[in-house]
Amino acid sequence: MDISENIKKYREELPENVKLVAISKTKPNEDILKAYRAGQRIFGENKIQEMTDKQEELPQDIEWHMVGHVQRNKVKYMASFVSLIHAVDSLKLLKEINKRAKQNERTINCLLQIKIAEEDSKFGISKEEAREILESEAYSKMKNVRIIGLMGMATFTDDEEQVRQEFSFLKKVMDEFQKDFPELTELSMGMSGDYKIAVECGSTMVRIGSSIFGARNYN
Ligand SMILES: *Cc1c(COP(=O)(O)O)cnc(C)c1O
Repeated sequence: MDISENIKKYREELPENVKLVAISKTKPNEDILKAYRAGQRIFGENKIQEMTDKQEELPQDIEWHMVGHVQRNKVKYMASFVSLIHAVDSLKLLKEINKRAKQNERTINCLLQIKIAEEDSKFGISKEEAREILESEAYSKMKNVRIIGLMGMATFTDDEEQVRQEFSFLKKVMDEFQKDFPELTELSMGMSGDYKIAVECGSTMVRIGSSIFGARNYN
């Protein structure tokens, strides 16, 4: 894998309004630095401990995105630096993020994860639950979190039509929400296998790991 070439390839290929989040989970710092030297600044991780370790060791101008499921008791470890949390799925979690952001005198940007896949294994909430959060009095009182968009993961399948339907559904939810909440501007959808479809369906942020850094080895 030529990480530097891959970064350049994506930068050329992706439309200007689509941000590339390089998903570096399980990858060593030297790989992240190769992408960094090619100009990449946004990196995503799915484990808080791993992201925190990397953040301490790597250049401080990296924007760290937490793309995985977040346990409330771990929010405090990333609250001082995380720049976007992609997978918020409850008011309780949002409350904790707000509390920890406040302690750090920051505002933390978040996305609500909508469940669009048919697999049970995928996290996320319904569009109705998302609307409830956005309209809640509790959220309106939180001064240190800002929901700036939505995130979704399509079903892991070769059936492109199904993936397209799931992403299109999320785009429709986004358009609907934007009428009432114009501050929602980011739509995080698309990974190595399905980012092209996601971009066609209106993604503003693709989360790409293995086709930049190579296959992950979890051993
Ligand atoms: C790992 C991961 C990705 C990247 O997956 P690839 O298929 O390697 O591109 C994207 N989003 C989330 C939430 C992930 O956990």
